[in-house]
Amino acid sequence: RPVVELRGAGKSYGNIRALHGVDLAVHPGKVTCVLGDNGAGKSTLIKIVSGLHQHTEGEVLVDGEPVRFTTPREALDRGIATVYQDLATVPLMPVWRNFFLGSEMTKGPWPVRRLDIPRMKRTADEELRNMGIVLDDLEQPIGTLSGGQRQCVAIARAVYFGARVLILDEPTAALGVKQSGVVLKYIAAARDRGLGVIFITHNPHHAYMVGDHFSVLRLGTLELSAERSEISLEE
Ligand code: ADP
Ligand code: ADP
Repeated sequence: RPVVELRGAGKSYGNIRALHGVDLAVHPGKVTCVLGDNGAGKSTLIKIVSGLHQHTEGEVLVDGEPVRFTTPREALDRGIATVYQDLATVPLMPVWRNFFLGSEMTKGPWPVRRLDIPRMKRTADEELRNMGIVLDDLEQPIGTLSGGQRQCVAIARAVYFGARVLILDEPTAALGVKQSGVVLKYIAAARDRGLGVIFITHNPHHAYMVGDHFSVLRLGTLELSAERSEISLEE
C-alpha cells in the first residue's frame, strides 16, 4: 500500500485556491513524478506533505492514516524527507560534516550524535559510496562541489537517516545535461533502496527517465495521472 497518499487534497491561501481535488499515491520503491508549469501548485503540494502548510481540503495519509503535520519535523519523524532546491548545506563546511548536519533533528535508527569524528567521516564515505557517489576528498568544503553532487549528498543523507519518502524539489532544474544524469542516477539508487520518491520537475524528459507514475498539475488540479505502462512506447 502507499506510504503517502493524497485523497482529494487541496490548499487555499485565503481565497486563492492553489491546489484542488488532488489524488496521488506514493509507493515504496517507486518514483512518482509531479509535473506542471509555474503556478501549477507543485510547491503547494510539497508543502502540505512536508509539514510547511496544512491542507484545507481532502486528506493526506501516511501508512493509511490521515495526518495533518504542523511542522517539517513531524513529517521527518514519519520518514518524509524533503530536499529543497536551495539545499540545507553549509558551503564552507566539509562534505562529511554536512552529511551529519541536522542529524540531531532526525530520530534515526541509532544515536548519531555519539559517533566520533573519524567514524562520522568513515560513515559519510561509506554511505556516499553505497549510493554510487565517489568523492576523492570529504574534507573539501561542500561549496566546492557541483550543484549535482550537492544534490546527491543531500539525497544520500536522507537515505542514511532513514527516510522512507523522499521529496525532491526540482533537483535537476539548475543543472546541465551531465549533472542531471548524475542526479537521475541517484534518484534511481534511492528508489532501488526502497524509498518512495516524489520527483517534482518541469522537465518531462527527466521525469520519463526515472518515473513509474506521472501526475501533471495545471492551475492547481490534476490534468493527467498515468502509470508508466499507460504512456510507454515499450511493450
Ligand atoms: P508551482 O510550485 O507549481 O509554481 P505554487 O504551489 O507555488 O505553484 O503556486 C500555486 C498557486 O498558488 C499560484 O497561483 C501561487 O501564486 C499561489 N500561491 C502559492 N503560495 C501562496 C501563498 N503563500 N499565498 C497566496 N498564494 C499562493
Ligand atoms: P501561510 O499564510 O499559509 O502561512 P505563507 O507564510 O507562505 O502562507 O505566506 C504568507 C503570505 O504571503 C500569504 O498569505 C500571501 O499573501 C503571501 N504569499 C506568499 N507566497 C505567495 C505567492 N506565491 N503568491 C501570492 N502570495 C504569496
